[in-house]
Amino acid sequence: MTSVYEQYGLKKVINASGRMTILGVSTPSAAVVERVSYGLNHYFEIGDLVNKTGAHIARLLGCESALVVSCASAGLAQCVAAAIVQDDDWLLHNLHIQPLLVADEIVMAKGHNVSFGAPVGTMVALGGGRLIEAGYANECSPQQLSAAVTTQTAAILYIKSHHCVQKSHLSVQQALEVAQQHGVPLIVDAAAEEDLQAWSAMGADLVIYSGAKAIEGPTSGLVIGKQQPVEWVKRQAHGIGRAMKVGKEGILGLTLAIENYLTQQKVTGAQMVEKMTTFIAQLNGLQGIGAQVVWDSAGRDIARAEIHIDEKTTGRTTSGLVQALKSGDPAIYFRGYKANEGIIEVDVRSVSASELVLIFTCLRRQINQEK
Ligand SMILES: *Cc1c(COP(=O)(O)O)cnc(C)c1O
Repeated sequence: MTSVYEQYGLKKVINASGRMTILGVSTPSAAVVERVSYGLNHYFEIGDLVNKTGAHIARLLGCESALVVSCASAGLAQCVAAAIVQDDDWLLHNLHIQPLLVADEIVMAKGHNVSFGAPVGTMVALGGGRLIEAGYANECSPQQLSAAVTTQTAAILYIKSHHCVQKSHLSVQQALEVAQQHGVPLIVDAAAEEDLQAWSAMGADLVIYSGAKAIEGPTSGLVIGKQQPVEWVKRQAHGIGRAMKVGKEGILGLTLAIENYLTQQKVTGAQMVEKMTTFIAQLNGLQGIGAQVVWDSAGRDIARAEIHIDEKTTGRTTSGLVQALKSGDPAIYFRGYKANEGIIEVDVRSVSASELVLIFTCLRRQINQEK
């Protein structure tokens, strides 16, 4: 039987880059896939499905309310719309008619105005918000955030992510205090984070997760938080939310993935280190290559192999090497955020032992080729 890869002429991929949308994010467990299939094969009263799975997830996570959405980006846009529209029936259907006469500014640290593959600002605009940056590219204190809040502020947005500037930036707790002082809601985008409880327990009004990243669910997203704002997000199903509808299969698949995520043993950073010990030793045996374990810059329990490429010794530029490995078959994708510094990272969470051997072989071949 021909595989899907053969039928459509697709390349096989080794994903050493982590949970990346451009590669399909993650591969859910068999149980989750089966639940997705169950969802596809049955009818439900969708309002009931949304409310009851939401209540179930909220009980599991110990928060007031929860809602499955189609992805974290959709969650972001709908949370912004919810903060602006709230329970206004006219605005729900007329958010696109500018200018808005209600508070529509979304205040965020400038160092959080990042692209995660698409810009945060685009999602804010989709939700009808006007982005206001606080502080500078290299700093944002609670005072600087507070100074940007006006009577036109609909919400403060905090992006909890490795993509953001970390140095001299306020914490979620500090952003929450600023939000509470001004009586505006705090929205936390924690899309790729592993802790599903910390920020809602802290008191954030809305917290957003990606369903397929840490949770390893189907393509989906999760919004959790306080009762009232989550109800406002649900209402967006009859507004902008319709353009980002989540299916019954996504709702059921993510709900089960969350249950499993909370109860099943997670692969620890220490186990990741063990998995790549031989790989790192082999790399260090190559001329012009240095490899070591590094820990996730956002503080998650993820260990990765950081590979330094001495461009003079190897005769290869780092970006050229990364490109060559992507162009091969199978295509090998590394984390390339630091390629401009001569560094690539290997994330082994989705890489099997045999694939790790193949990565080493391909890297060695690439380096020897040019010598
Ligand atoms: C991945 C990511 C998103 C988008 O998540 P999707 O589920 O792919 O829409 C948003 N914000 C941050 C910080 C992310 O890392």
